Parts: sequence; C-alpha cells; structure tokens
Amino acid sequence: MIGEPPSLTAEMVDEVNEVIPPNKPRYLMGCGYPEDIVEAVGRGVDLFDCVLPTRNGRTGMAFTSHGKIIIKGSRYAADKAPLDKKCACYTCRNFSRAYLRHLFNAGEALAGRLVSYHNIYFYTKLMSDIRKHISSGTFATFSKKSKQKFDFRNP
Ligand SMILES: [Zn+2]
Repeated sequence: MIGEPPSLTAEMVDEVNEVIPPNKPRYLMGCGYPEDIVEAVGRGVDLFDCVLPTRNGRTGMAFTSHGKIIIKGSRYAADKAPLDKKCACYTCRNFSRAYLRHLFNAGEALAGRLVSYHNIYFYTKLMSDIRKHISSGTFATFSKKSKQKFDFRNP
C-alpha cells in the first residue's frame, strides 16, 4: 500500500487474504520496492503495479543486483562499467555508467529512458526468478536471500 510502513502493509495483506477466496488472484497496488514485492509474494500476492521503475529511472536511479545506483553522481564520471554487470538488458549491453551520467548531465531525455528500460528489465527478471523459485519449491530460500540482499527503500 502506498505510503504505509511495510509492517502495516503485511498485516493488511494477511487480513485481506482471510476474506478473498483462495482461488482468486491477489493484487497489491503501489507495492514497488523489490524487497516489498518478494515479501508480498510470500504472503500470497499475485499482481503488482508501481511507478518506481520508470519514475526513478527518469531521475537517474537504477535498481541493480548489487543495490541502487544514482547515476548522476560524480563517482561515475569515468566509470566504463554497465549499470549492472549481471544484467543482459539493452542499456547494460551498450552503454557505460559514464555515458549515462553524461546524458543526464546534458539534459538528454534518452538518459531517463535508458535507465527506465534497465529498471523494467530488472523487475521483469525479478518476477521471472520468483516464478522459477515458486515452481521449484525454493521460494522460501530465495525470499530469505533477497531480504538480505535488497535494501532499495533506504537512502
Ligand atoms: Zn540492465
């Protein structure tokens, strides 16, 4: 739920689960941080939508396998690495952090589009990984590792 603390969201998801028939899908609007999505899936939520991947992408924040990157930072001025070395998206295959930073600082709209593209790819991969782990019966382990790894909510 938008703006509520994660603990209250979890409590409300559990409450709603008690009244929705078990064969009906669960939708959680505005749940967008990767760690919150993994938590909600563990509580039975099936569907999400959120502006975070594109809104944050347009302002230069990338979700990566090793945490968030604020690409406008001077530390990336000469960084030839992709946003995320583990990512196979178009942005990561073709552009360096330094180039993306340059695009942002030059006011090029392409900058926000390229980081948004990467972020959507990151979320698509996250959901694919969640589905694979549910199918193979390893979601609990995946969830535990994700909670230790993801910390996108904090600055
Ligand atoms: Zn990427």
